[in-house]
Amino acid sequence: MSTYLMSDGVSPSQNLEVPSSALAIGAHPDDIEFGCGGTLAKWASKGCNIYHLVCTDGSKGTWDPNVDGIALAARRQQEQTLAARALGGTAPVTFLAWKDGELQSGLEQRPQVVEAIRRLKPEIVLAHDPWKRYRLHPDHRHAGFLATDGVVAARDPLFFPHLGQPHRPAKMLLWEADQPDHQEVIEEEFFQIKLRALKAHASQYESTMGVNQLDDESQMEAFIQRLRARLTENSLTSDGQLAEVFKLIPKI
Ligand SMILES: [Zn+2]
Repeated sequence: MSTYLMSDGVSPSQNLEVPSSALAIGAHPDDIEFGCGGTLAKWASKGCNIYHLVCTDGSKGTWDPNVDGIALAARRQQEQTLAARALGGTAPVTFLAWKDGELQSGLEQRPQVVEAIRRLKPEIVLAHDPWKRYRLHPDHRHAGFLATDGVVAARDPLFFPHLGQPHRPAKMLLWEADQPDHQEVIEEEFFQIKLRALKAHASQYESTMGVNQLDDESQMEAFIQRLRARLTENSLTSDGQLAEVFKLIPKI
């Protein structure tokens, strides 16, 4: 491939062999769809079992100060379930339901992630890159550390032995990486599925998609163009393909 070389002169990798199962861990409802929705859709279409774990309740995901947080959290759970279905997920979404904006990545939360990894036994775990520099939103940082720390604890038998048999995923993919070194090419059909899944998060149209009139076709079209441009620009190759990019952790 590639006109792209990383600073160490190594070419990035592209398109993992489709795993049998994949668990995506996100801070809020919609983070997984933005971070790796195309990848999950592609894999699900080829027989991969995809799973969602969402750490917070999303109850602060609005610019409207008059919104009831409890009602918003309930709505966002429904939206997340629809989005997971749109990507091809058939299992229930795991909701940890920590309060939006107040997620921690300590010993209270880590066993919840370990339990999910040991129960679902994913071959690949996808998550926020917790080491992204100058990231402001603490939930994204904490969700990333919960995923990386949770993977380490899930693989070894003396961590949380009451939570079932150890499970060692083969690899991790971290989205939002400062220095991505792996990409999954997103063909048009999977871009369209990613979009359908993002559109399921209707409560987020204004704050994350810049669509403040639900029936405003031009605003939605502008969002789609921005998303398409981002997936093209982020691509580690210069051939105009759409891609989701990651830091690959090749061995757990
Ligand atoms: Zn988020």
